[in-house]
Amino acid sequence: MVGAGAAGLFCAALAGQRGLKVLLVDHSEKIAEKIRISGGGRANFTNRDLDVRAPQRHFIGDNPNFCRSALSRYAPQQFIELVQKHGIAFHEKHKGQLFCDGSSQQIIDMLLAECDAGSVTRWQPCKLGSIAFSASDAGGASAGSYRINSDRGPVETPRLVVATGGLSIPQIGASDFGYRLAEQFGLRVVTPRPALVPLTFGGEAWAPYAELAGLALPVRIETGAKKEKMAFLEDLLFTHRGLSGPAVLQISSYWKPGSPLTLDFAPGVNVAEALGEAKLRSKKRIANELAALVPSRLADAWVGQDPALQRPVNEAADKALAALSERIARWQIAPSGTEGYKKAEVTAGGVDTRDLSSQTMESKQPGLYFIGEVVDVTGWLGGYNFQWAWASAYACATAL
Ligand SMILES: Cc1cc2nc3c(=O)[nH]c(=O)nc-3n(C[C@H](O)[C@H](O)[C@H](O)COP(=O)(O)OP(=O)(O)OC[C@H]3O[C@@H](n4cnc5c(N)ncnc54)[C@H](O)[C@@H]3O)c2cc1C
Repeated sequence: MVGAGAAGLFCAALAGQRGLKVLLVDHSEKIAEKIRISGGGRANFTNRDLDVRAPQRHFIGDNPNFCRSALSRYAPQQFIELVQKHGIAFHEKHKGQLFCDGSSQQIIDMLLAECDAGSVTRWQPCKLGSIAFSASDAGGASAGSYRINSDRGPVETPRLVVATGGLSIPQIGASDFGYRLAEQFGLRVVTPRPALVPLTFGGEAWAPYAELAGLALPVRIETGAKKEKMAFLEDLLFTHRGLSGPAVLQISSYWKPGSPLTLDFAPGVNVAEALGEAKLRSKKRIANELAALVPSRLADAWVGQDPALQRPVNEAADKALAALSERIARWQIAPSGTEGYKKAEVTAGGVDTRDLSSQTMESKQPGLYFIGEVVDVTGWLGGYNFQWAWASAYACATAL
């Protein structure tokens, strides 16, 4: 098994406990670094809201239905029971997201203890070299064997599980190993791209908004048209270079370069009606009236861009108020790009699910399996990516 992250550790533990002889190899000295830094150090390890009858709702990929089988056979409740068995205290934060009360290290320790219970051998750091497959003569128990060269010597195995994750956060061990290996064996790879990532708005166009850096507020955010339309109701954060926060991370997985985002800064509020009523009864400045509906920094910035709005609300032209309301409720802006793999929580794309079995995670190359983030299955923010790691690991381990 290659890659001792979330999926690799869990799969190794389960396979070992089922009596298989497992060697888990990782090129990093410190394994499971993504678990350690996840959820702000508390690991949002699953999501209770995942609907096992329609789990694909919270996942993207070229074939969104691929993840259904594994996710419905290993539900969040099963992982919760494992966490409870290890005495790890946890809490629900928001929309079904479960976090450790203590530290994400508890999840790593739990997975290592499970590996020990399965007598898993771990080699780390261990660099892998060439990997070759030789088919066995007809009638053998397996289709063939893989010969893997490593800096600790050669390894021969009938089954090879790849759990090397995606490309995000290269400074803590991410590599394109899984994609390269897939291509070596003729499997297709959906072009990887950063996902759950802050969006940038380069150049002069962003200058008026850069001063809002640090401002957070709940918004409705939308992208795409018709069947591809996607929207989230979450918190937004202004940064010096663009937009971040859960709303933007979520929508970034659906955003296509060149297309705009539409934001409603006062979801559930009819801004046009509220300003229209204010005009009939108030002599306050427009920015002050608007500050009752959205944070005052945002109200000042929006009103400050138009001299026609820098006056008492009862003196404002209906047209100017209507335009302001439209810009609060339907602000359109096109990102210039993303913050890239350095800041992305996950990598979308990956090993093409057309070349994998949704039951076992085995690829069309006999004996070669792919699990976790290296596969073209990407979850929403909120514990869904770990749940995919656990569920795909379980599907694989029970099939090995
Ligand atoms: C900052 C941050 C916060 C996150 N928070 C959450 C969260 O709270 N909840 C959630 O669900 N998801 C979260 N995620 C996403 C989640 O961490 C990943 O989706 C998950 O870890 C993927 O599991 P994996 O086992 O497929 O890959 P990883 O956990 O990335 O493990 C891959 C392993 O493979 C090893 N490896 C890579 N290349 C090689 C190679 N060539 N040879 C040998 N070994 C190799 C790596 O060293 C690593 O140990 C977060 C991600 C980031 C970056």
